[in-house]
Amino acid sequence: MGAIHYDTDETGDAHQFCVGLAERARQEGVKFRFCSEVRGLELRSGRIAAVVSGRERFVAEKYIIASGSYSTLLLRHVGVYLPVRPVKGYSITLVGGGATAALRIPVVDDDLHTAIVPFGNALRVAGTAEFAGYDLTLSPGRIRNLLTLLREVLPQERFDATLAKPWCGLRATSADGVPIIGATGIIRFIREYRARSSGMDHGGGIRKAARRYYVRRASGC
Ligand SMILES: Cc1cc2nc3c(=O)[nH]c(=O)nc-3n(C[C@H](O)[C@H](O)[C@H](O)COP(=O)(O)OP(=O)(O)OC[C@H]3O[C@@H](n4cnc5c(N)ncnc54)[C@H](O)[C@@H]3O)c2cc1C
Repeated sequence: MGAIHYDTDETGDAHQFCVGLAERARQEGVKFRFCSEVRGLELRSGRIAAVVSGRERFVAEKYIIASGSYSTLLLRHVGVYLPVRPVKGYSITLVGGGATAALRIPVVDDDLHTAIVPFGNALRVAGTAEFAGYDLTLSPGRIRNLLTLLREVLPQERFDATLAKPWCGLRATSADGVPIIGATGIIRFIREYRARSSGMDHGGGIRKAARRYYVRRASGC
């Protein structure tokens, strides 16, 4: 078995990143409304007129829809077809118990689409691409697969499977993984969708491509 070592490879803690980003945004005056579900978008004269959440309506100059694979459902109501579907992924996180001491650098298995990543005092095994719609049930078999992989990569280590914290989530993914950037039928409504299963890794590059698109569009090229 062989492997390639990328000495410039980096990993990050997505939760820590989001918490830090939110704090920065808060300092710039952004107000967050957690636990309020957007139920719909109001369309008037071909433009988004408001965002509806419960009994509240939010009116703004510009609207950004960043609701992952649920964006497809929200946009469908205003006639925008987004060819993006949820692809379910799983992870297990082992905290402490010598887990991190076992591995200092991340290991990615591209064949199995699985990664084992040490961060802080934890070790996370993430992977799996399951087509199960919006169902967020944790499948025990999928969790077992991740544990098996961990034991295969680190056979000399003993892991207490009962300490593994399981999780699953949905990746918003387009059929070919290529981001969708372009104008929609709704007047002045531009879609820039990060339809990549690796939103964290590719977000910066896709934003750059989208920016080029907006600049070209604004200058009429
Ligand atoms: C197991 C797994 C491993 C992954 N590993 C990697 C990796 O190693 N590298 C990488 O780059 N990416 C990875 N990804 C993908 C990455 O998590 C996503 O690309 C990224 O989270 C997309 O960010 P987002 O903000 O667009 O969407 P999301 O993170 O899906 O956030 C969307 C948010 O919108 C909220 N929302 C949805 N509908 C509504 C509504 N109607 N009203 C209000 N809020 C709503 C949701 O609750 C959610 O908080 C992984 C994904 C999974 C599942």
